Amino acid sequence: MDASPATISPQRREQIDNLVRTAAAAHGHLCPGQVIGVRMAILGLGLLGYPCPLGYPEIKNVVGFVEIERCLADAVATASGLRLGRGSLKFVNLGLLAATFHDLPSGRGVRVVSRDDARALAADYAPQESGDHARQVAAYRVMPDEMLFDVHWVKVDLAPEEMPGARPPKIPCQQCGIDVRSGQIRIVGDRRLCAVCAGQAYFQPMEEKD
Ligand SMILES: [Zn+2]
Ligand SMILES: [Zn+2]
Repeated sequence: MDASPATISPQRREQIDNLVRTAAAAHGHLCPGQVIGVRMAILGLGLLGYPCPLGYPEIKNVVGFVEIERCLADAVATASGLRLGRGSLKFVNLGLLAATFHDLPSGRGVRVVSRDDARALAADYAPQESGDHARQVAAYRVMPDEMLFDVHWVKVDLAPEEMPGARPPKIPCQQCGIDVRSGQIRIVGDRRLCAVCAGQAYFQPMEEKD
C-alpha cells in the first residue's frame, strides 16, 4: 500500500477549490456532487483544449450534456459556464453521473463518467475527515482524474434546431393553435400538434370540478 496516495498539482488544486466555492454558493450547499461536477468540467474541457470556466469567444464552440439532474447538473453549469438558458447546456436525464462536452469545430466530444469505485477510495484520500459526506467532499478534490472518472471520446449528433444559436421557426399547433418553439412540433397522422395535444405531455389534465 502506498502511504501517500497520488494527488494533483497545487495549481489544479487551487482551480478546483475556487470553482467548488463558486459552485457551492450557486447551488446552495457544498456536497460531493459539486466537487465531482467541477472536476468533470475541468477534465472534459481540458481534454478539448479549453480552459474552465470557458471564456469568450470559445464558449460558443462547446455544447455540454448532463445526464442527471440535481447536484451534479448545477456544478457542471457553474464550473463550465455552459447554460441551459443559452442552449449551450442540454439536460438528458439518463440517471447517470456523467457529462459530455462536445466541441463544435472539431466534431469531437468527450464523455466523462463518474467511477462508482471512487467512493470506496475516499477514505484513503481524506482519512482526517469523519463521515462519508465530508470524506467524499475532501477526497474528490484531490483524487487523480483517472480514479474519479472514465473518459470516452464520442460523436454527438446534434440536430440543427438544438444548436446554441438556432432559432427554429414557431409552428402553430393545428389543434389548440399555440405556437410550438424549439423544433418541438409533433407529427400525428397528417397533423402538426403541440406535445400536449399529441398526448405526449409530462402531465395529465385534472378533472374540472363543477
Ligand atoms: Zn448538492
Ligand atoms: Zn396543441
